[in-house]
Amino acid sequence: MYLKKKNNFFRTLAFRLTLWYLVLFSILSIAIFSIMYFSLISHFRQEMDDELLDAAKEFEDLYYTHGIKALEEEFQREARSEGLKRIFFRLVSPKGEVEASSDLSSWHGLPDLKLNKSTIFQTLSLPGHLHKIRLLAKPTEDGHIIEIGATLKDDELLTEKYRRTFGIALAIMLLCGGLVGWLVAKKAMSGVERITKAAMRIGKHDLKERVPLGNEGQEIDELAFAFNEMLERIEALVKELKEVTDHVAHDLRSPITRIRGIAETTLIGEQDLNTYREMAATVIEESDRLVEMINTMLEISQTDSGVVEMLREKLDLREIISEAVELFQPVAEDKQINLKSDLPSDPVVIIGDKAKLQRVVANLLDNAIKYTKPGGWVTISIRKDLSWAIIEVADNGIGIKKEEIPRIFERFYRGDKSRSTPGHGLGLSLALSIVRAHGGNITVKSVVHKGSTFSVFLPLESPIK
Ligand code: ADP
Repeated sequence: MYLKKKNNFFRTLAFRLTLWYLVLFSILSIAIFSIMYFSLISHFRQEMDDELLDAAKEFEDLYYTHGIKALEEEFQREARSEGLKRIFFRLVSPKGEVEASSDLSSWHGLPDLKLNKSTIFQTLSLPGHLHKIRLLAKPTEDGHIIEIGATLKDDELLTEKYRRTFGIALAIMLLCGGLVGWLVAKKAMSGVERITKAAMRIGKHDLKERVPLGNEGQEIDELAFAFNEMLERIEALVKELKEVTDHVAHDLRSPITRIRGIAETTLIGEQDLNTYREMAATVIEESDRLVEMINTMLEISQTDSGVVEMLREKLDLREIISEAVELFQPVAEDKQINLKSDLPSDPVVIIGDKAKLQRVVANLLDNAIKYTKPGGWVTISIRKDLSWAIIEVADNGIGIKKEEIPRIFERFYRGDKSRSTPGHGLGLSLALSIVRAHGGNITVKSVVHKGSTFSVFLPLESPIK
């Protein structure tokens, strides 16, 4: 909706790209035109000046060889043949008097000549002349000045024609360029449009759809690839969220139904005090289970998202293991399971959060004892391998089916055979979250009916620190 509202032509990237392209194109064309235009003008000017100077020199020779009269005749003849309105000639005495000239009837408002010892060129406008005039004043050796003025009409007409032609060419080029630019930009954007349409379709329908790779270029392919990867992650997250919600709903429903049932029983008829006590105890037990489950879920998501900072203290893993073994010994004995530990004589030092790591060891020992039949054994040991401290919890219990192994760390996942034992399927998820937050990992090897070995890898304290 928002996108549709804003989707007007002038805001499209294709339009903006075309505009940029046209602006750049115009600036470049105008710059090239200006350079050519000014070099053309200076070339014309230079040519005109050379011609004027050559003519002045010829007149000067004539003046010396044949005198003023012959010069005046030549002035008039030349002006007539060139056109009286196009050129004039004058010979001015050192006193400033015109001694010889062509017909000056079309040349009013000529500026007074300043006597000068060097040749002077000048461009000026004269009344009655549409075009500018180029003026040359060349001193002769006897102090006279030969002055020639010629119209710049031809040059100006030519440059004007050039300007007009360029203007038309630029307009056509901008039109074609704009069209081509627009088509190119549209083509380049077509991949983005395709992905946008796919994204909208996917948003409306299901997350299973993917954007097909096209042939609009590597960038678009990369965008489509990144988009598909993101979809993959979203799909996995949505699936996980759905599973978690289903599990939570299921796991909450059973104890709440039980609690409700008990409350109902207390309301229906009188019970003796002992029955009431038993009922209250069951309600407390069920409530505790619920609170424990909710707390564990919270702890997992907080650990995963890094909301809670892990403590970073120096720990000897042997201590954590001995304390845990001591704690679990009575449970193991109750179930007639032989619980042993195998610890190295040297300290195994890591940096971590003691309470959290105690949770990890406790969960693994709890599982090992839970999933091992009476008469079996559970061993916990530590070893070092390169930069890792490895805690191994091994048992000869029921084992895990091959196809279940990849799923046992998922939240709420419980193996087929474990449904009869108490638990929420959250212990291993929490353990893995904590270990990952410490920069480590948990691996598992298991054979059905033979037993399982869980290995917790934690980075050893670096000797450099
Ligand atoms: P819970 O023990 O509450 O079911 P966990 O997350 O601790 O949840 O374990 C997930 C599943 O992994 C268990 O349901 C069980 O099937 C399997 N499992 C874990 N530890 C062992 C073990 N030592 N031996 C056999 N199966 C195990």
